Amino acid sequence: MRKLHFDNRFVRELPGESGGGDVPRAVEHAVYSLVDPVPMPAPTLLSWSPEAAALIDLDAGDIDAAFLDLFSGREPVEGAQPFAGNYGGHQFGHWAGQLGDGRAITLGEVVNAQGARWELQLKGSGRTPYSRGADGRAVLRSSLREYLCSEAMHHLGVPTTRALCLVGTGEQVVRDMFYDGHPQAEPGAIVCRMAPSLLRFGHFELPASRGDTRLLEQLVEFTIDRDFPELSGHGRARRAEWFTEICARTARMIAAWMRVGFVHGVMNTDNMSVLGLTIDYGPYGWIEPYDPDWTPNTTDAQRRRYRFGQQPNVAYWNLGCLAAALSPVVGDDEALQKGLQHYADTLERESRSSHARKLGLDQFRDDDLPLLQELHALMQQAQMDMTRTFRSLIDIDVRRPSMESLEGAFYDSALRAEYEEPLRNWLVRYAKRIDADALDADTRRQRMQAANPCYVPRNYLAHQAIERAEQGDLQTLENLLDVLRQPYVEQPGRDEYAARRPDWAAQRAGCSM
Ligand code: AMP
Ligand code: MG
Ligand code: MG
Repeated sequence: MRKLHFDNRFVRELPGESGGGDVPRAVEHAVYSLVDPVPMPAPTLLSWSPEAAALIDLDAGDIDAAFLDLFSGREPVEGAQPFAGNYGGHQFGHWAGQLGDGRAITLGEVVNAQGARWELQLKGSGRTPYSRGADGRAVLRSSLREYLCSEAMHHLGVPTTRALCLVGTGEQVVRDMFYDGHPQAEPGAIVCRMAPSLLRFGHFELPASRGDTRLLEQLVEFTIDRDFPELSGHGRARRAEWFTEICARTARMIAAWMRVGFVHGVMNTDNMSVLGLTIDYGPYGWIEPYDPDWTPNTTDAQRRRYRFGQQPNVAYWNLGCLAAALSPVVGDDEALQKGLQHYADTLERESRSSHARKLGLDQFRDDDLPLLQELHALMQQAQMDMTRTFRSLIDIDVRRPSMESLEGAFYDSALRAEYEEPLRNWLVRYAKRIDADALDADTRRQRMQAANPCYVPRNYLAHQAIERAEQGDLQTLENLLDVLRQPYVEQPGRDEYAARRPDWAAQRAGCSM
């Protein structure tokens, strides 16, 4: 892959260590450890994303044996200095100390022809100094889920890390999923993820927790210089401005998650990107029957910290952790507090805009809130599919609103019957509101179509793609990826992808990573 130009600015400008050894230890005053991917025995290319490849100037002609060697970790990358990042994090509300990339290895930063920088990272390519006794591998199930969902999120217009390709390793990986009392071996796979920067809140929290202000300051200055060149000020004022920008980006990301019904499931600060990108697709899920209390994370089922409706609050809490970490190098807690307030303000503005677009209104007004809240309550009580319900509202006949268009949204016919009357009443109110709105019918329809996806990567669809891929059939995955390229456009002959989850798949709804 002589075509890829690696810059390695991160390694060049920041302190790291030479790696080696994998006994658990504290890696002090270093933001990375140099480490090479482990060569996999029999790698195969399972899928690649043309849209992600184009970001680093690659096209179909480049997807050859050398590509596979590179993204399976088989060949040392010419000009690259691979490393595992060192970061900490707050997990489930508590400081967890040093974590780091236990199964991810960054190959380096590729600079494309336009001068844009893309960090390329292999996930599942072997042990690192941060593996803490685990194997550094990833199974096809989890890698495919990350690959599929990050590209789908991009096409949905949600800020996200990208995925370049999915490579089968030819190895079996043992995971603690027990069938008949025996641990299950599963095929291993590597996903190559991409982002302009993969820095997480936890990268800053770790040196802060150790009182290593020198390293913290160096990392902050590096990050702003490299990843936020548009920020104008300098010194401490620029750092405060940077934090405010992180708050704004995080708010936009959260509003987008809430709009499309995405539940991250592990919003720990080690899984929060300072670029405001969705990162670390683990036990994520999609809201199907509307339920703000739903979480895909079975280990979080009791605490319910990471449930759908909780995401705006958890992001705020996480930003608070970042603010506390940055306090010594910003030296102005009032400015940090203002940054947090900017999160709340931006989220409020973005949410209003997304409610207006989802409901097809010119403006979402204060007195529209009861209408929205009642819809949410009805969707929850009647167990209606969130995606289908909003998509159906596009077709409501304002003159004669009826239940007809909502039919495909119900999971339970008894509940449908029970809530028919309040739903009819709601539809009448909604139709009246639309009738009085400034938008004309065509604009409203376009607006709603652009905000309410027809297709999302429902968990059971991903599960089907995984089962087929495990049997060597990759066409199911490719078909699904293709549908998800245009999630807002109704695609003839692809109705089954838009339908609510079939009953047999209900048990799979909370399938973990
Ligand atoms: P996650 O829940 O994926 O965000 O991972 C939390 C931490 O555990 C991170 O430091 C990961 O690098 C590490 N980790 C998770 N799975 C593995 C694995 N199979 N091998 C090594 N480290 C892992
Ligand atoms: Mg993580
Ligand atoms: Mg993860």
